[in-house]
Amino acid sequence: MTGQRQEVMAALFVDMGVFASDRWVREPRAKYECVRCQTTEGPVKGADRVAEFVARIRTDHPANNCTANQQGAHAA
Ligand SMILES: [Zn+2]
Repeated sequence: MTGQRQEVMAALFVDMGVFASDRWVREPRAKYECVRCQTTEGPVKGADRVAEFVARIRTDHPANNCTANQQGAHAA
């Protein structure tokens, strides 16, 4: 490890929602904002989709969807 700077590259926003009286008063939702490529993924809604989104997005976006990542490696 040779002193890589740790910058904030993205922000993950998660709202777990409010469940009361057997229904969602406010549905869970999540979105991901990438600072590098200015892309927002989501928001997704619903407990299952939010859980899945949160579990994968931090690796999935840089690996598959981040244009800054793909271009930056060569053009920087
Ligand atoms: Zn990105």
